[in-house]
Amino acid sequence: MIYIPTLTLKSNPMKIRYLFLVVFATVVCSSGAQTKSQQGHTTLPRPKLVVGIVVDQMRWDFLYRYYDRYETGGFKRLLNEGFSCENTDISYVPTLTAVGHTSIYTGSVPAIHGITGNDFIIQGTGKSVYCTGDTTVQTVGSTSSAGLMSPRNLLVSTLTDELKLATDFRSKVIGIALKDRGGILPAGHVPNAAYWYDDVTGNWITSTYYMKDLPDWLKRFNSARNVEKYLKQDWNTLYPIDTYLQSFSDNNAYEGKFAMANAPTFPVKTSEMFGKNFSIIRYTPYGNSITLEFAREALDHEALGKNTVTDFLAISLSSTDYIGHQFGPNSIEVEDTYLRLDRDLAAFFKYLDAQIGKGNYTIFLTADHGASHNAQLLVDKNIPAGFLNANQILKELNVRLETKYKAASLVLGFGNYQVNLNNNVIAENNLKEDDIIADCIQFLKIQTGIATVVNMKNIQETSIPDALRGRIENGYHPERSGAIQIITKPGWYQWYGYMGATHGSWYPYDTHIPLLFMGWGIKQGKSNNSYYMTDIAPTISALLHIQAPNGSVGKVIAEVLK
Ligand SMILES: [Zn+2]
Repeated sequence: MIYIPTLTLKSNPMKIRYLFLVVFATVVCSSGAQTKSQQGHTTLPRPKLVVGIVVDQMRWDFLYRYYDRYETGGFKRLLNEGFSCENTDISYVPTLTAVGHTSIYTGSVPAIHGITGNDFIIQGTGKSVYCTGDTTVQTVGSTSSAGLMSPRNLLVSTLTDELKLATDFRSKVIGIALKDRGGILPAGHVPNAAYWYDDVTGNWITSTYYMKDLPDWLKRFNSARNVEKYLKQDWNTLYPIDTYLQSFSDNNAYEGKFAMANAPTFPVKTSEMFGKNFSIIRYTPYGNSITLEFAREALDHEALGKNTVTDFLAISLSSTDYIGHQFGPNSIEVEDTYLRLDRDLAAFFKYLDAQIGKGNYTIFLTADHGASHNAQLLVDKNIPAGFLNANQILKELNVRLETKYKAASLVLGFGNYQVNLNNNVIAENNLKEDDIIADCIQFLKIQTGIATVVNMKNIQETSIPDALRGRIENGYHPERSGAIQIITKPGWYQWYGYMGATHGSWYPYDTHIPLLFMGWGIKQGKSNNSYYMTDIAPTISALLHIQAPNGSVGKVIAEVLK
């Protein structure tokens, strides 16, 4: 426990009185926290547990689009009992999963934390790196390669790291998600564990970065084959299908179908689809259900929130993203997913009430990014949009460059909406990088669907809105980002298949995210003030009286805190 140093202020009676009031007030107001040590000293009030929940690809408007059918204990409980920051935005590009999870938990941006994409190219070597890939570790819990993961590419501390440092590593921290990056990046560098899902076995796994062997409780959980229990149920709509908001036929051209199905329609016969590969659960609402079931199991067996120090459970719900990509936001599938998630969340909060005690824990819920509408759907409704055929553009660009410079593949790719130059070939052929950049820009800026192209060497001289310039700068890490940033027109995105939807841009559909807090230390209310994703970590740090993560650029959202 950390003691408030009342003695050091002895010389100033005013300050002592003030401090007494503050201490008294916080002690009285914080019913859930431990306030007396064994020696009878007042101790710092903190929640017993913080639960961070990231809903992968949740647009802010999903809180309200499906509001009427949410039950009282899930999203509506967060909105009514908690505090909603209605205008929370992402302050960088590209808006992708790894970047979002990292920025939420570091209060930082790619320019500083170094996670510039799910994959990124190390500019000095031309080597493509997966955000959490690590070949120096081994899988624990499966013979597959899905466990070759660690947080080693993350360059700054996380909120969870800072909690560990503040409590001399006595706080327990666990990260959980179907996606490895959704479990690993939030849990930081020194968690007790991060767990993710293995498609080959249907088991929850980890890596030797964290431990040598799975705990016994997890071995038992895996061998109970919960994944099969879910998949055998098939996926049908929770309510009669004609009562759903979405008016498109369940069978329409905007939705991608399952590989083993004839059409993108209900019921989804998951009972007939699993066997050799258990990845199918990712693409159903059961992926969220099993994640929360596993989270309860971890909470129980690791006795989180049962000690005198604050513990941290970082959960990311990945299925919303997989389903969003496959079907797009205007599908019955996405609507049904959120109605089911709402029920799952209600049950989870109830469980926390029972296990930790209502008012003893703090929750925040947010998203790593939003999502576009399906571009063809917009086009069909006369709203400007389109697909950017990046592969075709890349091919043509490389042909033009090769004709001029007599060197092949001068551009490696457009990953993360950046032009990644082949710096090795440029050096070997003694070519001038600046000339190649100029030629790339000249070619790219006239392509259909591209709004602007920015040379990162002279972004200050580029005529673009300040809001966009700031987001591009925040997203740019010189060692891990391409030399040129491509900005698509609103509604346009890189060709991803004409079905479903995607994300990555700086426009509101991708950047306006939900941000809700509830529980210990949190006021009840709603604010329309403008906040950023990077404010989450400093706000929870302030709540816990710990230092903000070491790359944080965010501000404390003061109106949320009691
Ligand atoms: Zn995604």
